[in-house]
Amino acid sequence: MDFSGWEKLSLVDFDDNVTTTLFFAGCNFRCPFCHNSSLVLNPASCPKFKWESIMEYLKKRQGILDAVCITGGEPTLMNDLLDKMKDIKSLGYLIKLDSNGSKPEVIKEAFKQGLIDYVAMDIKNCPEKYPLTTGLKEVDMTPIEETVRFLIDSGIGYEFRTTIIDEHHTEEDIEKLGQFIKGAKKCFLQKFTDSEYCISRGLHEVPKEKALRFKAILEKYVDKVELRNYD
Ligand code: SF4
Repeated sequence: MDFSGWEKLSLVDFDDNVTTTLFFAGCNFRCPFCHNSSLVLNPASCPKFKWESIMEYLKKRQGILDAVCITGGEPTLMNDLLDKMKDIKSLGYLIKLDSNGSKPEVIKEAFKQGLIDYVAMDIKNCPEKYPLTTGLKEVDMTPIEETVRFLIDSGIGYEFRTTIIDEHHTEEDIEKLGQFIKGAKKCFLQKFTDSEYCISRGLHEVPKEKALRFKAILEKYVDKVELRNYD
């Protein structure tokens, strides 16, 4: 399968690493706040980047780039993801994977084969409100919980991140979300910004004062909690 988006140079996707970012088109969720609506809703109409071209670029930039970020959509749905990760690893790059955590078996296998250095997993909401925040009628939380526990227990580098939305997240939800990821090392609470690229329009950001209250609640369960994109 081909990637459908390619940001050749990024300084913001993976700590201080100079990164190239690849986007997979397709997702099993429909989060209303998602900014990648075309990748999620119309994968067939998205551009395709030939793997050979990407590999050629990566070969030429060995020693210049540090890492490859694989994102989406939901990249664990890509049927040849591990083969592509192997190709990337053969050139010595670090790999960061962004995921909604619904395919623990893919993340576990990538880790087992030494193909993954860091995972950024979305925690959409407390388990009860996953359907609302993923735009689905129902969500099987078993694989998501399996990924959460694997990331916490495996020793792999990871972060959890939650885009907080005024209409979707209450203090009670954040309390339950904290219980769901109890023992985690790191979680970011990300500011939401509405845009024409979102799957649904009209949602609102959580004001900073309220976001700080969310942070304080989450700190009871997670070692390090930070707000992201708040001034
Ligand atoms: S936010 Fe992530 S999980 Fe949700 S629809 Fe967009 S790509 Fe899929």
